[in-house]
Amino acid sequence: MSIEINNVTKTWGDFVALDDVTVSLPTGQLTALLGPSGGGKSTLLRVIAGLETADTGTVSIEGVDATGLPAQKRNVGFVFQHYAVFKHMTVAKNVAFGLEIRKKPKEQVAARVEELLKLVHLSQFGHRLPAQLSGGQRQRMALARALAVEPSVLLLDEPFGALDAKVRKELRDWLRRLHDEVPVTTVFVTHDQEEAMEVADEIVVINEGRVEQVGTPDELYETPANDFVMSFLGDVTQIAGVSLRPHDVDVSTTPILAGSTEGTISRLLKVGFEVRLNVLTVAGDDVHVVLSRAEARSLDLREGSTVWVTAAPGAAVVPSMRFAG
Ligand code: ADP
Ligand code: MG
Repeated sequence: MSIEINNVTKTWGDFVALDDVTVSLPTGQLTALLGPSGGGKSTLLRVIAGLETADTGTVSIEGVDATGLPAQKRNVGFVFQHYAVFKHMTVAKNVAFGLEIRKKPKEQVAARVEELLKLVHLSQFGHRLPAQLSGGQRQRMALARALAVEPSVLLLDEPFGALDAKVRKELRDWLRRLHDEVPVTTVFVTHDQEEAMEVADEIVVINEGRVEQVGTPDELYETPANDFVMSFLGDVTQIAGVSLRPHDVDVSTTPILAGSTEGTISRLLKVGFEVRLNVLTVAGDDVHVVLSRAEARSLDLREGSTVWVTAAPGAAVVPSMRFAG
């Protein structure tokens, strides 16, 4: 295990930003810290980096106790949402910066910069100024700069957050490929579940300063620990006190499904290849269902139809917070 966070608590006055957080982030993997805004993701990243000191608890990086180490001694590379560049320096100079202040030999720096610019697909742009790059290119430059000093850990705080949706998507595919090529232990903060699901090997879900669940994207989606994780990672609906995914609701036009609840289709909407239903059950639930067009057609569903709904066999199901109070 590369980064071990043990019983870390961080408060601002009487506000608890991190509440006894214990988590291991494995070596060589790309881990996403995912959760709603204000949940404590950046605080945790900054505690790992040494930019913030925890009130209690320990951080170890690659087996070394880093709790008392200053940021410069932790061998971490950083990229933030709004990257601070040296505007008057060329792209190549920006990437070389960390190596030059470490007084590496000139030829070695030049070779490394060339290699890094190639890695981030900016070879032709080394002589430009940062202002002459697009937003996406600038963030790639930032990554090259963070990687230049061969950090053992790369920390990214919403690195693509300021970019438009299309560029974000390109960059996340690119980051995934880059990580496969150069498997530096990477911790990536995002509040975007799709981004986390697409990019990460493992996801740590953080909410209100606590770790809700740790797992692969599949594990979190298929076996969420609770209603919070389930609803943060995708659409959720409720039947009789349990939460489940709308596409995991089985619909029948007869009461043959075990444990099913009777209801009426109050709304039927066709969107692309899906058919979305609202089923108002006799127990008073407004159940959301997503079917394929073929399924809806074979059942001959329409608004006003009486149907029976239940969780599909094998569906992920958790107690609903709404009912648990
Ligand atoms: P996230 O990155 O998940 O959006 P943060 O870790 O930035 O959340 O913040 C967690 C909470 O801690 C927020 O409520 C934020 O306002 C608070 N916080 C963060 N930094 C400070 C600070 N320097 N002083 C006071 N409160 C802070
Ligand atoms: Mg943040």
